Amino acid sequence: MNKVAIVTGASRGIGREIAKELAISGIKVVANYNKSEDQAIKLKEELKKDNFFVDLFKADVSKQEECKNLVNYTLERYKKIDILINNAGIDKYKLITEVTQEEWNEMINTNLYSAFCMCQQVLPNMIHNKNGCIINISSVWGMIGASQEVVYSITKAGMDGLTKSLAKEVGPSNIRVNSIAPGLIDTDMNKELSETDINKLKEETPLERIGKAEDIAKCVNWLINDNFTTGQIISINGGWVIT
Ligand code: NAP
Repeated sequence: MNKVAIVTGASRGIGREIAKELAISGIKVVANYNKSEDQAIKLKEELKKDNFFVDLFKADVSKQEECKNLVNYTLERYKKIDILINNAGIDKYKLITEVTQEEWNEMINTNLYSAFCMCQQVLPNMIHNKNGCIINISSVWGMIGASQEVVYSITKAGMDGLTKSLAKEVGPSNIRVNSIAPGLIDTDMNKELSETDINKLKEETPLERIGKAEDIAKCVNWLINDNFTTGQIISINGGWVIT
């Protein structure tokens, strides 16, 4: 296998597991991180022990210049990009009346503009090669909405809109674009939840557990190897949300 992938936000949580899964599958992975350099280095070293490899690249993907740097680095080093996983994201729990304009800008730029901008940057190469797979990690909240997470839900619904429209635009160039919309996954993003909250969620979930980052990574790997799925929002949530 000679595929090349960029995974944004790969220092922790879901992105880290995706980078790991893809590297183990033989894909050349550029694992992006922003603030958590130590964790990114740890991922690289952990994989190296088993003779697997990820390349690390620091970039704040909420910023256009840094998205460009990430893509240029990948193209200079590997000459092509087959796979883009837009995973970097943040969440803030607040009533709508308390959200400041700075917070709005931060959430929109980190979760949504980053995905749009990374697509803009990788697409010329993918279109030239008539080959590509883009996966946006959105959320069940983008599908059904979440109280006190209005901005987060807007960003994730926006990602799903990006998925559907871009799939139509670039399908003729053999580029597939899909969203994976996770339910609750055990990562730092949910560290504020109490044990009682988690147990309640488990009870509400047909498969009686919350998700693991590996559950999402496995679905990413499946989508990469698929040939005929595009424009879809695939929700991995143990049956918690069935639409
Ligand atoms: P997490 O554990 O908090 O990790 C977030 C990752 O995003 C970190 O690697 C972080 O990198 C990176 N990141 C944040 N801002 C960035 C920026 N400006 N530039 C580059 N990287 C940035 O969160 P997670 O649970 O793995 O979430 C991953 C994705 O899944 C997010 O898009 C999230 O919305 C989505 N999701 C999560 C859940 C869940 O229940 N966990 C459910 C649905 C959807 P640094 O630490 O290096 O800055």
